[in-house]
Amino acid sequence: MALLKPEDRKYTTPEDICMHLGDEYDKFCGAIVPPIFQNSLFVQHTEINGVPASGYYYTRDSNPTVDIVERKVAALEGADGAVCFGSGMAAISTAVLYCVSAGGHIILLSTSYGGTMEVVTKFLHDKFNIEYTLVDGDSTEEIEAAIRPNTQLICLESPSSIVFRMQDLDAVSAVAKKHGIKTVIDGTYGTPLHQQPLKHGIDIVCHTASKYLGGHSDIVAGVLSANEKIITDIQRTDRVLFGGIIDPHQAWLMLRGMRTLPIRLKQHGENGKKVAEFLENHPKVEKVFYPGSATYSQPELFNKYLSGTNGLMSFAPKGGQEAITKIVNSLHHFQHGCSWGGFESLCIPVPYSEVKDHGETHRVLRLHVGLENIDTLIADLAQALDKI
Ligand SMILES: *Cc1c(COP(=O)(O)O)cnc(C)c1O
Repeated sequence: MALLKPEDRKYTTPEDICMHLGDEYDKFCGAIVPPIFQNSLFVQHTEINGVPASGYYYTRDSNPTVDIVERKVAALEGADGAVCFGSGMAAISTAVLYCVSAGGHIILLSTSYGGTMEVVTKFLHDKFNIEYTLVDGDSTEEIEAAIRPNTQLICLESPSSIVFRMQDLDAVSAVAKKHGIKTVIDGTYGTPLHQQPLKHGIDIVCHTASKYLGGHSDIVAGVLSANEKIITDIQRTDRVLFGGIIDPHQAWLMLRGMRTLPIRLKQHGENGKKVAEFLENHPKVEKVFYPGSATYSQPELFNKYLSGTNGLMSFAPKGGQEAITKIVNSLHHFQHGCSWGGFESLCIPVPYSEVKDHGETHRVLRLHVGLENIDTLIADLAQALDKI
């Protein structure tokens, strides 16, 4: 049920998928917005060969509102189907657990999201004895060299969300297939609009929908997309057993957010680009990390895999931690907070003592450039940088 329906395939552009896939006016009394099925169970009014005519039993398994948002994401990804979860971490942990078993080994990026890192290096390793190797991921040879006879999963994140390191998805998936290893990617930065990893041979793509997919900083949700076998397996076993499904109301808000995803991302990208250029030309800034900018270190991978930028970036001001603290305390229009992908501008000093990039270490401040007036945002950054 999380699989695309044949009629969904008539929506072929991202805008039309985001706007209209799943609108069934005849079924929903002509409502322009499909309703929230805010119910736990579905009574078995009519059965055909033991299967309820509606196809629904219980919302821990599936729900019509959840189905619509899953089909929208699947269509954007070029996947057979998708399954939604109550958080990005639920989606990622489920994908990892689906791929590994006792005695296995995981190859994980050293730049992975903190939660993913903990699932693998603490939870699975310390509690279940699953082995792991951390890699930088800059070269596919390094990843291939880390493969052991018991490797079951290569877990990618491209671009990563602080220094935006990318991996060569075609090359990594080819190596993984050669060795019979599954690949999972956290593709949150790209969103299904700007990057479609399944088209490059990756087995499962995960996103948190708490960032751009939701877009309004009012939901916590996640989604994973894959081929029919994986989606059916995960829906019938992992998701229903762990009970991690998104609730119908969050799914409805995620649908609402996705209707404006193309236009929001375009504006975040324009605003982000202007801020990145401002920072790159500022005398008190040592280094800017922003995919697609003139100084971005992996332009060939960016051009190959991503079709756009957004509002997320990091920068290292001259003066290290002291300068970062002063900037955070001086900004008025960038709130100090940890998430990103909403309408609002945010800043967060990266909690790690130093960020490593190509052997260099930096102390960085991460910015999310929101949808506020761009001149207001740049003036705010200018006055804060003046204070250091
Ligand atoms: C926020 C984030 C997550 C976690 O998502 P939640 O919805 O908060 O569970 C995972 N990966 C990346 C890259 C993130 O930014």
